[in-house]
Amino acid sequence: MALSGMQIYKLLPRTNCKECGYPTCLAFAMKLAAKQVELDDCPYVSEESRAQLAEASQPPIRLVTVSADGREAQAGNETVMFRHEKRFYNKPGLFVRLYDDQPVEALEAQAKEVADYTVEYVGMELKVDGLAVEATDGGAQFAEAVKAVLDTALLPLVLIAEDAAVMAEGLKVAREVGAKPLIYGATAETWQDFAALAKEHGVPMAIREEYLDVLASLAAQIKEAGVDDIVLDHGARDLPVALAKQTHMRRLALGNVRELGYPLIAFPGESVDDPEMMPIAAAQAVAKYAGFVVLDEFSPATIYPLLALRENIYTDPQTPIQVQPGLYEIGEPTADSPLYVTTNFSITYFAVANEISGSGIPGWLLVADAEGMSVLTAWAAGKFDAVRIAKAVKENGLADKLNHRKLVIPGHVSVLLGEIEEELPGWKILVGPREAVDIPGYTKVWGSL
Ligand code: SF4
Repeated sequence: MALSGMQIYKLLPRTNCKECGYPTCLAFAMKLAAKQVELDDCPYVSEESRAQLAEASQPPIRLVTVSADGREAQAGNETVMFRHEKRFYNKPGLFVRLYDDQPVEALEAQAKEVADYTVEYVGMELKVDGLAVEATDGGAQFAEAVKAVLDTALLPLVLIAEDAAVMAEGLKVAREVGAKPLIYGATAETWQDFAALAKEHGVPMAIREEYLDVLASLAAQIKEAGVDDIVLDHGARDLPVALAKQTHMRRLALGNVRELGYPLIAFPGESVDDPEMMPIAAAQAVAKYAGFVVLDEFSPATIYPLLALRENIYTDPQTPIQVQPGLYEIGEPTADSPLYVTTNFSITYFAVANEISGSGIPGWLLVADAEGMSVLTAWAAGKFDAVRIAKAVKENGLADKLNHRKLVIPGHVSVLLGEIEEELPGWKILVGPREAVDIPGYTKVWGSL
């Protein structure tokens, strides 16, 4: 947990020598607490104080990375319980579980389907983070299954096996191609063998235990054994209990219980009897503190809302989600279709785009760069004015693309009409509805305007 300025001050020499550029050690401590200066700016900090300050500056939840072929899934480094307090940083990794008892061709087909899946969301390309391969029936085919999956899709992996000897075989295959998987399945009985593997190969390991005090103790022992990157599974496979445990564990981690300061792993499919409930369990895991989420099936209908939910939770609440400025086709517009302009605030974009789409009349939606603000806010701030709108029209080559020269502006900025016509000679500027919900009615009369 971060130290206060007064706590830092007590660790400084307190000689007020001014060499750091500040008149007193207290002033320097306050700047250090605000992360506006570096500790090295004071040349007189003792080694003991330096160690204490370094320890205190560690994030309460360790950052754990799973990687393969340059792709990474990272979890941890979180500092708050609730997003509105500051922000959440590292999106929980979504992994799809495959089993080693399936034919190689089936494994390859599933791995390929997951690896090939991409979906565009507010201008971003979203993907599944990786795959989980689980050993079954003694794990005789585990290494072969891991190889088949990695040969098809070199993605970040979670390897799942109860037996450390089985895990060793699969892990060897993964390490041969440079993958750094998370190894899962250690318990109070088996953690030493898994820790030895994790240490030997430099990979993170997960530990499963139902009782949190025992889990904390096991994590401490694993760290003592030389493994720094640990992932925790509290063992609850019941939605309300899992929610309570995950919330409690986050609170304890932020309260500086270092033994629980690691990312959590969740298996939503194991928490529900009805497979149709799996997305709900997964959504709970994404929203409430899981760092790695292992899904039991791959379906675009399930994955897309989870990816979108994750994006919405793991963004900075002080920075609005924006869409890329540019020209968007809504439906299949032609050179005669209406042209609308709006700002790049994502909620505004989706409100307008959805209403154009719902009108049944395809259109062009020109999104001007208004620094992510809504129409009225951007206009008041001078970020959505005639110059910017005209610039967007010109940059997107609309005079060449369209048969007409008509641009519909939001009704809230009707005052811009004259200025835009000055900036865009030859164009007719039409004042559209104030609210997006009125666009379908407006499209019916657009042709006569
Ligand atoms: Fe205090 Fe160090 Fe700054 Fe000197 S250089 S005033 S000892 S913080």
